Amino acid sequence: MSDHAVVIVGGGPTGMMLAAELTLAGVDALVVERRTSQVVDGSRAGGLHARTLEVLDQRGVADRFIAAGQRHPAVSFSLTPLDIRDLPTRHNCVLALWQSHIERILAEWVYDELGVPVLRGREVVSFTQDDRGVDVALAGGGALRAGYLVGCDGGRSMVRKTAGIAFPGSAAATSWMIAEVEMDGEPELGFRRDRVGTHALGRRAAGEPIRVVLTERDVGHAGAPDLRELRDALVSVYGTDFGLRGASWISRFTDAARQAAEYRRGRVLLAGDAAHVHPPHGGQGLNTGVQDAVNLGWKLAQVVDGTSPEHLLDTYHAERHPVGARALRSALAMVALGIADDRHDALRETVTELLGADEARRRVVAMIAGLDIRYELGDGHPLIGRRVPDVDVRTDDGPTRIYELLRDARPVLLTLGEPDALARARWPGRVRRVHARRDGAWTLPVVGEVAAPEAALIRPDGHVAWVGALADPGLSRALETWFGATGPARSS
Ligand SMILES: Cc1cc2nc3c(=O)[nH]c(=O)nc-3n(C[C@H](O)[C@H](O)[C@H](O)COP(=O)(O)OP(=O)(O)OC[C@H]3O[C@@H](n4cnc5c(N)ncnc54)[C@H](O)[C@@H]3O)c2cc1C
Repeated sequence: MSDHAVVIVGGGPTGMMLAAELTLAGVDALVVERRTSQVVDGSRAGGLHARTLEVLDQRGVADRFIAAGQRHPAVSFSLTPLDIRDLPTRHNCVLALWQSHIERILAEWVYDELGVPVLRGREVVSFTQDDRGVDVALAGGGALRAGYLVGCDGGRSMVRKTAGIAFPGSAAATSWMIAEVEMDGEPELGFRRDRVGTHALGRRAAGEPIRVVLTERDVGHAGAPDLRELRDALVSVYGTDFGLRGASWISRFTDAARQAAEYRRGRVLLAGDAAHVHPPHGGQGLNTGVQDAVNLGWKLAQVVDGTSPEHLLDTYHAERHPVGARALRSALAMVALGIADDRHDALRETVTELLGADEARRRVVAMIAGLDIRYELGDGHPLIGRRVPDVDVRTDDGPTRIYELLRDARPVLLTLGEPDALARARWPGRVRRVHARRDGAWTLPVVGEVAAPEAALIRPDGHVAWVGALADPGLSRALETWFGATGPARSS
């Protein structure tokens, strides 16, 4: 039986990102993935939002995704495109990139460069946990022992079910057929609305298959549709099947929305779709999962290496459950705005009118893009609990920017005042101390410009844990809470 500090069930986007975070923190993590191939079937998620690009930038890999995708200037809220270009982030776009490409680029980084071990073509079928670890059973008879088990195994999560974690939420009220097809004809691409709902035909680039999304009258279908059903549905909406030749992928999704009641039970944790499922409207599923992983990774690493007590893991649920709940809420709101009847038409027109106001637009864009997340880490400076902006700074080594300081996934204590009396103090080894002068403005989405901090303690996930002056006793408390360390010891 092989023994690992952390076993991750599922090598989708969430599982790979978590594996990267743990490995950067020096923790032994193994991914178990049921699929034999790295390539996910179908296009599924269509892109990356600004905050996901930022967290990838914090690790120095955002450019790889940007080079492969196309930058779009607007976030979609139901059928309304909302301009994102004036939001204060370097990544003020939606990066259009199919999930298969996102997963390929992640896999190259995680498996080929970081060397994370993966058991491919193996399925976890059950587990039991005790006080010291988790025994994991694989299909076909293998077994593993893990210190912690993380279910990144998608919406039907075996890990969630076996752990007995409830998955409350709302059942499906609408169903959609989705397919990637080849057609002899050249249909007009775009949206069509009728009394059933909104239908879409799209193609991202010449030579790519056409993506078909059709609202269905009936939500009671089980499993994926076949080509005949797709053809019938096209004829019923458009009066023709456009010479449908074949489909490389046909699937179905619904507007069911559910969220795990607990993101942790003992030594078992959930992240990504295993913890929350909702309709794809707004494109938040993959993005929320990657960001769950970045919140969990450093905390789990610190618990595994004994730096922090187990209860640090409870902050994962406390911080990420509300974010997941908001993703469910906004996705369901977008479904409601797409319903085709007079009342919903009136609602959509009213909301669209309101979103014409800049402040309303910026708020909604920041929410969908994940830029407005604020964890409850206390009052005081508006930076506390929010993601640190990627401000240009100048250190003794030359100009840099804050996200470059986060590359190795370690906490950073950034001081921006005059060099101080504590400059020669010994700081807890895992906290990187950086003294810098600020070049850029400190502007937060939704909040606006904020006073530059004298010093800020930045967690590895990029969220600010503390702001103040170095002599402030709150710094020692924050260091202890988050990094199991007390304040600086004066060097002799
Ligand atoms: C039609 C459609 C459109 C979408 N559009 C968007 C979008 O535009 N933007 C967006 O952000 N999201 C979108 N999503 C959602 C997105 O695809 C998911 O949120 C995302 O894939 C979740 O990633 P994950 O890693 O959490 O789970 P998954 O991608 O589901 O990965 C789970 C992995 O676990 C493996 N696994 C499962 N059980 C086991 C087991 N017992 N043992 C071993 N391995 C196991 C699976 O093989 C899989 O590889 C869309 C989804 C669909 C279906």
